[in-house]
Amino acid sequence: MSDLNVCVLPGDGIGPEVMETALAAIAALERRFGFRLASESHPGGAAYWRETGREMPQGAWEAAGSADAILFGSMGLPDVRFPDGTEIAPHLKMRVDFDLFAGVRPIRRLPRTPAVLADPRAGKIDLVIIRELTEGLFASRGKGVVIDDREARDTMVITRATSEKLFDFAFDLARRRKARGAAGAVTCVDKSNVFVSMAFFRKIFDERALGFPDIAARHHYVDAAALELVRRPWMFDVMVMENMFADILSDLGGGIVGGMGLAPSAEIGLEHALFQPAHGSAPDIAGHGIANPTAMLLSTAMMLEWLGHRHGREPLVEAAACLDAAVERAFADGAAFPIEIGGPHGTRDVARAVIERIDRPAA
Ligand code: ATP
Repeated sequence: MSDLNVCVLPGDGIGPEVMETALAAIAALERRFGFRLASESHPGGAAYWRETGREMPQGAWEAAGSADAILFGSMGLPDVRFPDGTEIAPHLKMRVDFDLFAGVRPIRRLPRTPAVLADPRAGKIDLVIIRELTEGLFASRGKGVVIDDREARDTMVITRATSEKLFDFAFDLARRRKARGAAGAVTCVDKSNVFVSMAFFRKIFDERALGFPDIAARHHYVDAAALELVRRPWMFDVMVMENMFADILSDLGGGIVGGMGLAPSAEIGLEHALFQPAHGSAPDIAGHGIANPTAMLLSTAMMLEWLGHRHGREPLVEAAACLDAAVERAFADGAAFPIEIGGPHGTRDVARAVIERIDRPAA
C-alpha cells in the first residue's frame, strides 16, 4: 500500500503511447527500490471532448486536484477546436487553477545524440529554463479583444506575488544544482529596455537575488538570449522568464539538444505539481509506435525526485536518480537511439533499453 498517489492523464495522440512507458518504468523502479505509488488513470483531452462535449470527466479534475502529483501525457489535437478556434487544452487551466507557477524545462544533451550545434562544447549543454506559467502574456488567454475588426489587444500581466515566488524558486534550483557541480547562476531574461512590465519583472528579480548571495544573478534581453542559446548555450545555468518568452525559448532549447522527444518538463506550485514531456500530442506520428518516450521518462524521474524531497522518501529520490541514469546509459550504450533523431528504435525499444538498465544497474 502507498499513501502517495499519482493522477495519470495520458491524453491525446502520442500521450498514451509514451505514458505506457512511464508506467512500466515506475513498476520496475517499485520492484527495485521497494516503494509503491498508488496511481489512477483518467481520460481527458481533445478526443474525449469530441465524444462527450467535456474536456475531462469531473472526477478526473478532482482526482488531479487531490493527488500528490499529476503525471501528464499530452492533451489537444489541432483539428479539434472550440467554436472560437482555440484548442482544447485543459492543462492550461490546470496551471492557473492549481497555481503551477514554475515551469521547469531542463535542456540537456544526452550521449550519442546527433550534434545540432557544431561547437564541441555543445556536447555539455546542461541548463534549465524556468518558465512562469500562470501570467505573463498568457494571462490574456480568453481575454484578448478585437475592436471593430480594426485592431486586436492582448495584455501582459506581471504580479509581484508570483514573480517573487518564481525568482525564489529559480535561485533555489540554482543552489541545488551548484551543490551538484553546476555554475550557480540565474539569468533573468526580459525586455526591460522597452516594456514597463519587464522593467518591473527585472526589478523584483534584483530584489530577490539579494537573498541568494552565493548565486550569481545575471540579465539578458530576450533577443540576445535567443542568439546566445544558439551561439554558446553552455554559458547558461538557470534561466528565468515570463510565460511567452519561455514558450518560445524552451522549444529552441529542445531544438539545440535534438528534438522535442528529448525535452522533459515539470510544472510546480506550492501545493500541486504536474510532470509532462515538453512536446505536444504529435498527431502526425501517433499510432505508429515511433514516438520518442525519453521526454516522458525524464519527466517521470523529475516527478519521483520532487515527491521524494517533498515527502522525505529517500527510495523515491534514489529511484529518480536511477531512472535518469538508466536513460543516460541506454543512450551512451547505443541501446536507445530513437527514430526521432535518426536511429532505429521505436517507443517500446527505447523503453525496453531503459527498463533493462533499471533492472540491471551498472556494476
Ligand atoms: P503543442 O502546441 O501541443 O506543444 P506542437 O503543435 O508544438 O504541440 P508537437 O505535438 O510537440 O507540436 O510536435 C511537433 C513536432 O515534433 C511534430 O513533428 C512531432 O511529430 C514531433 N514530436 C513531438 N514529440 C515527439 C516525440 N516524443 N517523438 C518524436 N517526435 C515528436
